[in-house]
Amino acid sequence: MKKKIFVAGIHQESNSFSPLMSTKEDFTIYLKGDKLIRQIAGVKEIQKAGYEVIPGIYADACPGGVLKLEEYKKIVEEILGLLPADGSVDGVFLPLHGALEVEFIGSGDALLVSLIRERVGGTVPISAALDLHANNTYTLSKMCNIIYGYRTAPHIDINETRIRAARMLIRALEEEVMPWTELVRLPMMMPGENFMTESGMGAEIMKMLPDLETLENVWCASYFAGMPWVDCAQGGGTVVISGSGDKTKGMEGARKFGNYIWDNREKFKFQGVSMEPEEALMLLEQGAEYPAFLSDSADNVTAGAAGDNAYMLKIILEKSKKKILIAGLVDAPAVELCKDKKAGDTFQVTLGGSIDKEKSVRVRLNKVQLVNVFYEGEKVTAAILKKDNITLLILAERGPITSEKVLNTYRLSAFDFDIIVVKQGYLTPDFYRIAKRFIMALTPGNCAQNLNLLEYKRIRRPMGPMEQVTDSKRITETYAG
Ligand SMILES: [Zn+2]
Repeated sequence: MKKKIFVAGIHQESNSFSPLMSTKEDFTIYLKGDKLIRQIAGVKEIQKAGYEVIPGIYADACPGGVLKLEEYKKIVEEILGLLPADGSVDGVFLPLHGALEVEFIGSGDALLVSLIRERVGGTVPISAALDLHANNTYTLSKMCNIIYGYRTAPHIDINETRIRAARMLIRALEEEVMPWTELVRLPMMMPGENFMTESGMGAEIMKMLPDLETLENVWCASYFAGMPWVDCAQGGGTVVISGSGDKTKGMEGARKFGNYIWDNREKFKFQGVSMEPEEALMLLEQGAEYPAFLSDSADNVTAGAAGDNAYMLKIILEKSKKKILIAGLVDAPAVELCKDKKAGDTFQVTLGGSIDKEKSVRVRLNKVQLVNVFYEGEKVTAAILKKDNITLLILAERGPITSEKVLNTYRLSAFDFDIIVVKQGYLTPDFYRIAKRFIMALTPGNCAQNLNLLEYKRIRRPMGPMEQVTDSKRITETYAG
C-alpha cells in the first residue's frame, strides 16, 4: 500500500499595525481536492516518488490585517477535518507563510503545525516551506522536522522552495529518520526593502546559504529577515537549519552565520533611491525620464496596509504639474458614489480614510470628472476619476496594482503618464522593468520604513534598530545544545 502524505497550508502575511482585520473571505485562493493537487508546487514530486497525496485545504490571501480568531478556526477545523484520524498518515507537507498573526493567539502557523503534530503523533515527519518574511517561533521549529525558506525578494522562488521542502520530506521518509530543525535568533528587525536579494547584503546572505548546507548532518539552511510590521514576541531575523544526526557542526555554523549577519547589520540598506515624499515628487517633476514610479511605502498594500491614505494625493494636489496616475486608492464609499453616474459627470468627492479613520489623510476634491466605472455584476468595483493633471484609480476593495497588465484591466497604461504613484514599498518586478525612474517615498503609516515610528509593545527588547543590543547572549540566541 502506498504511503500517505497530507498537504495543507494557510498563507497570509499579517500587519498588526493596520486597522484591518482579516476574515476567511480574504482568502481568495481556497484550494481543495484535485485543485490543490494540481496547483501546489511540490505535490507532483511527492506523487512521482510513489506516495499518495491526501489534500487538505490550501488558503492564500493578500497581505492584510491580523486574522480574526473565529475565521482562523473555520479554516483550521476544515483542514483538521480532512486529516485522517486513523494513524494512516506517513508524512505532512505544509506550504505556509510564517507571519500569520491571529487575534488573541499570535502565530497562526505555529498553532496549526502543533495541532497537526498532536494528531499525527511524534513519529511522522512534517516539512514546511515558509516565506522569507516569516517570524519564526520556537514552537514552529520544534513541531516541524524540516523548514525551508524562500531565498528571493521580491519572491520569485516560491514554487522552487516548496519543491525543495517536498523533496526533503521524501528524503526523511526514505531514510526513515525524523530530522531536527533548530533556529538561531537575531535581535534585529528591518523593513523588507532593506533585504532585497538582487543586490546588497540580502543577496550576499542568500548566496552563503548553500555553504551552510554542506556542514555535517545539515540538510537545509534558510535565513528569515522577518516581517517587521507585526508586533509579536517572535519578531526579528532567524537562521534556521534542518538536518539529522549530531547537530554540533550545524549549530556552530548557524551561530557563526548569525554573527556575520549581526556584524554587518548596518549594511542592510534599501538598494534603490528613497527620500521624503515632497522631495521625491519634486525630483520627479523637475525632469526625470518617464514613466517614473513613486511608491507610497508606508501604505504598502502588499505588506498589509489599508491602501486608503490620501497623504500623497494631498501633496500632489498642492505641488504637481505633471501627468500623474494614482494607482490606486482604496475607497469603497467614493466608488459607490460613482455608481449611477456617467462618464463626463463632474461632482465633489472626499477621498482617503475610509478604512483607517484615525490615521489616514482625507482630501476633499471639487469638480472631479468621472472617466470610467467598473462593475462585477451589480457590484461596483472601481472608478477612474480625473482632477486636472491627476488621474485616480479608486478601488472598492483592497487589491495590489502590480503590473501594466493589471492597469490594462482598468483601461489604463503606465505609458500614458509621467508619474505613477503606487501603494508598494519596493517596486514589483513588472513595474520595475518599465520604470525609467523609481523613488521610494518615505511616507508615514502602517508600513513605515523607519521602524522607530511604530509603537511596538510585544517585541523582545532590546531590539535593533530601536535599541542598542549589548548582551552578547542575545546576539545569536539558540535553543539547541
Ligand atoms: Zn514575503
